[in-house]
Amino acid sequence: MADEFSFSLQAKRTRLSDSELIEALQFATGMLGEGYFTSTAYDGLVGKRPHSATIIDRFGSWKKALALIGITGGKERHYSPEELVSNLEAAWKQLGYPPGKRKIASLGAKISESPYKRRWGSMQDACIALAAFHEGKISKESLLAGRPENEPVRTTIPLKDRWAVLKRDNYRCVKCGANPSSNHEIELEVDHIFPVAKGGGNSLENLQVLCRECNQGKKDR
Ligand SMILES: [Zn+2]
Repeated sequence: MADEFSFSLQAKRTRLSDSELIEALQFATGMLGEGYFTSTAYDGLVGKRPHSATIIDRFGSWKKALALIGITGGKERHYSPEELVSNLEAAWKQLGYPPGKRKIASLGAKISESPYKRRWGSMQDACIALAAFHEGKISKESLLAGRPENEPVRTTIPLKDRWAVLKRDNYRCVKCGANPSSNHEIELEVDHIFPVAKGGGNSLENLQVLCRECNQGKKDR
């Protein structure tokens, strides 16, 4: 087979650096707002910028690329407990049996199991609570309340601080040096050095970039 590659001396460098791609994303947040935005919204912006496909290819996924500028959480939007319950009821009726995590994500409003998990503990527990409500065993209020003790304590680090920390730590895990550009398996997280539960704050000095593995290793200790 003929080699299609041409060894042209006139060829220009086309590969953008990691930081050029990251800067393009940061620039886009100026136009799209601080929260999560889709690759379609990004590509729809006017002006010349690297295509989302280039960014996805470099960092492994759109979500991981956005994590590099401190935007996490994915395309999940907030659903009220009432919305979650009526979506679950509709999916259950349509199926004829209690939906599991795959079914719930594919029916009706296509809500993932995550918000169900956060409120009720699991998809199964959400179904148990809904059945209990329809059998008159629990009130509407306790159905909607879910199991709030299961909700993880979340501390929100402001986006600009996430950026600052990721940039300061050079988009790499400070423990093992892993970065998503060279290994797509890597997921970076901004971590509190001194845990919030023990009184640690959100100051930049108390924040560091860790890969998920190092971060979980630390949590297990
Ligand atoms: Zn690491």
